[in-house]
Amino acid sequence: MPADTELVNHAPDVLVVGGGVIGLTVAYELAGQGVAVRLLDKGRLGREASWAGAGMLPPGNPHFAAPEAALRAESHVRWDALTRELRETTGIDNGYTRCGGLHVLERDALDDLVSSWSNEGVSGRIIEADEVREHAQALATDVDVAAWLPEMGQVRNPRHVAALVSGCVARGVDLREGEPVLDFELDGDRVLAARTPSGRHSAGRFCVTGGAWSRSLLEPFGVELEVTPVRGQIVLLRTPSPLLRQVVEAGPRYLVPRPDGRLLVGATEERVGFDKRTTAAAVAELIEFATDLVPALGEAEVERTWAGLRPGSPDRRPFLDRVPDLDNLFVAAGHFREGLQTSPATAVLMREMILDQPCSFSPEPFRLSRRLATTPV
Ligand SMILES: Cc1cc2nc3c(=O)[nH]c(=O)nc-3n(C[C@H](O)[C@H](O)[C@H](O)COP(=O)(O)OP(=O)(O)OC[C@H]3O[C@@H](n4cnc5c(N)ncnc54)[C@H](O)[C@@H]3O)c2cc1C
Repeated sequence: MPADTELVNHAPDVLVVGGGVIGLTVAYELAGQGVAVRLLDKGRLGREASWAGAGMLPPGNPHFAAPEAALRAESHVRWDALTRELRETTGIDNGYTRCGGLHVLERDALDDLVSSWSNEGVSGRIIEADEVREHAQALATDVDVAAWLPEMGQVRNPRHVAALVSGCVARGVDLREGEPVLDFELDGDRVLAARTPSGRHSAGRFCVTGGAWSRSLLEPFGVELEVTPVRGQIVLLRTPSPLLRQVVEAGPRYLVPRPDGRLLVGATEERVGFDKRTTAAAVAELIEFATDLVPALGEAEVERTWAGLRPGSPDRRPFLDRVPDLDNLFVAAGHFREGLQTSPATAVLMREMILDQPCSFSPEPFRLSRRLATTPV
């Protein structure tokens, strides 16, 4: 850390506000470079969107990805090593696997999809009925064409978050639950401290990773962060043995099978504010989608339903940046439907920004200024 940010009185070098997958991965990454980090969460660590998500990890290729797709591509090449490192350090297996994925759509839409993968340097192809059945015997018989994405991955969110928490502890991160940050204390262009009901938390640098709740944290600085909650509902089904091995996607709906016979059916996209209830209509619709696609799921047990609040952004890309006019405040929020998959590269980019290191890929598509409205503080 630069000399001006070295602190006394046990204040950390960096204070991270929000302990979802983004905040935890940023903290883990910073601590890996010897930075003293404290992370505050208003509730329990990793229990919001990062717990609720389905954990699908679509592939990318850093050599071909457009700048906007860099987070996914750079993350794709990091998941394996991150998983291994967390398992070696913590003993927790996050369930990461390259299970492959099938897309079920009209043929024209599949052609477009496969050519977009090809432009991105991602392998995938159209497969016809016999091969579809070889991959997924349980799919409805009227599915006679699909697109096959061999490098599609998945991770089990609750396990990954548990591994990150444990990994952070192993690296000396000071993790604190039940600490809602109410506001920040300023001195000119520097943030001095974050205030919670328990007191002041001073630090050299601050990073807001509050997911769907991030907007209100930046409002006092005249920053209109265009991040809003987008509810996603999920139905968890269970069969005695797995009916599918691969993720199956059909537009915005999907089936994510776990090796233990559990299968997630997702997800809705609803703008209903900070309301995390599940609804009869959405659950019925998701079950209908699942049983239409895989008829044998009609016999599955409904184990659980839940909803989470994605941090939505207008162009579906996160905001990763230093907050303008403030020397030491950063934000990483608005990952929408891609926060799990893009968390490894998000953490690398944020570590580079926070520590004034050269960026390993372009942060431009994720700048606040791409659509930021500011008013004087
Ligand atoms: C149903 C569903 C399915 C999804 N499926 C996928 C998927 O398959 N693949 C994928 O990549 N992504 C998926 N996502 C999206 C992904 O879950 C999110 O993009 C990601 O979890 C966002 O992480 P986050 O850390 O920004 O937010 P969160 O996980 O919401 O974490 C934010 C944290 O900040 C804390 N916080 C907020 N305000 C304060 C404050 N004032 N003080 C202190 N702490 C605060 C909260 O308590 C919370 O723990 C899905 C999401 C949902 C809901």
